[in-house]
Amino acid sequence: MPMSGDQPFDRALAEIRKSLRLLSANGWRGFDCSDQTLAKLEKWGQGTHYPSETLEDIRTDLGECRRCRLAQERNHIVFGDGNLRAKLIFVGEGPGFDEDRQGKPFVGAAGQLLTRIIEAIKLTRGQVYICNIIKCRPPKNRNPEPDEIDSCYPFLERQIASIQPDLICALGTFAAQTLLKTATPISKLRGRFHEYKGIKVLPTYHPAYLLRNPDMKRAVWEDMKLLMKEYRYEN
Ligand code: URA
Repeated sequence: MPMSGDQPFDRALAEIRKSLRLLSANGWRGFDCSDQTLAKLEKWGQGTHYPSETLEDIRTDLGECRRCRLAQERNHIVFGDGNLRAKLIFVGEGPGFDEDRQGKPFVGAAGQLLTRIIEAIKLTRGQVYICNIIKCRPPKNRNPEPDEIDSCYPFLERQIASIQPDLICALGTFAAQTLLKTATPISKLRGRFHEYKGIKVLPTYHPAYLLRNPDMKRAVWEDMKLLMKEYRYEN
């Protein structure tokens, strides 16, 4: 059936024309339809913060965890630290000696370097959230076993779902490979964004690796510039 002036389509068209004329009269000369803008528009409404559970709920559920053997030798569970509404989360591997003593992530030598990295991108530790793939220190800082990760990682996933960040910076092989479910080496993963459940993930070298290999600081700075640019874009 032909459209007549009474049809909803014609009325909508007339409304659009009216709106465009108004915008034109107000000096608008076009629309930004770049990929970046379209991606941003697609996210409108999705960012509304309705987490199903708070970090406090998750910490309560974790309790005095004895789900794996790491409970036997740990002093403190290192849950995570920082802004509950952070737009950027840093994820490391697991607590070391100092973290196990203090119950806070990244407080030892590698942590001090991480603090300087965060400050270099013009943020503070209080603006971001810092956590690890596993929450208890493995004896002698050995790598976590797969069953230890299986017990612990779901809590990190819930923390990320609660915070709903725009960006995750995965520090080192362990964090990057676990979050991205890949065995690709960190040297091949770093330098570009990947995706974890719709969240942009930037892998980079772990600060402890940087302490042993200062030549790699340049690469991390390149990664941090990417992170900073994306952070500014999202906020
Ligand atoms: N290394 C990590 O991966 N995490 C910490 O919390 C400390 C050192």
